[in-house]
Amino acid sequence: MADWVLITGGSRGIGAATALRCAEAGWDVAINYAQDSAAAEALAGRLHALGRRALTLQADVADEAQVAAMFERLDTAGGRLAGLVNNAGIVAPAARLATMTTDRWRRLFDVNVIGTLLCCQQAARRMSTARGGAGGSIVNVSSRAAEFGSAGIYVDYAATKGAIDTLTKGLARELIGEGIRVNGVRPGIIETDIHARSGMDASAAASTLPIQRLGRPEEIAEAIAWLLSDAASYTVGALLDVAGGR
Ligand code: NAD
Repeated sequence: MADWVLITGGSRGIGAATALRCAEAGWDVAINYAQDSAAAEALAGRLHALGRRALTLQADVADEAQVAAMFERLDTAGGRLAGLVNNAGIVAPAARLATMTTDRWRRLFDVNVIGTLLCCQQAARRMSTARGGAGGSIVNVSSRAAEFGSAGIYVDYAATKGAIDTLTKGLARELIGEGIRVNGVRPGIIETDIHARSGMDASAAASTLPIQRLGRPEEIAEAIAWLLSDAASYTVGALLDVAGGR
């Protein structure tokens, strides 16, 4: 029986590409999704076709009770949770500071930061060698926006990703003694549905990059799968930019 990796927001985009790449690498894959059960089930079917176990788990990662219930369901599936990818994330429509609302800020931080913290907490409780676990690997999906700040578009979203980077570095040091490696991936501008929600012209922005094109979700999945794997056994607290030279 293979080990489980849980991928939050796994039903589409970077999460779905990561699910497929992890299945190819030999993981059994638990796909967390917020609402789109049809997409999650269809993806699970593709993972089964690769010969892997696949579970679909509905939960809003910002909701503590739902996250706890999701991990408890995974506990009952049999086998060990050895990987977690904190991929679920939201943006908000492009805006300047003057027109932003506190509701918007709270939801961004609830999903992107509290969601990451809650899932790290649940996973670490199961993986920690200090608690009888066998160790594991966590990858947090950040963004190059964490460094650039996304002025005039979504400074608040960028700040959530900055918080994720700081969490990644802190948790990496806190948890490595318990057999858990924590790392981050910072994508550049990747071809997914997320840009439709921010209103950013992703293709135009990508044309200004050194590589002069959008990234593909599979190109991020490759980096995530490597960080999860034993091939990255000495990589701890790294923030890996996969951003076409940005
Ligand atoms: P996407 O919108 O296709 O995927 C986001 C996923 O998160 C979706 O499956 C969505 O349902 C899920 N999600 C949202 N809120 C959730 C919640 N409360 N609970 C559970 N799941 C929830 O976009 P994507 O581009 O694939 O984004 C994946 C990650 O990559 C995000 O964290 C995003 O910030 C990050 N990222 C994307 C880009 C890019 O250019 N596409 C760049 C940098 C970072």
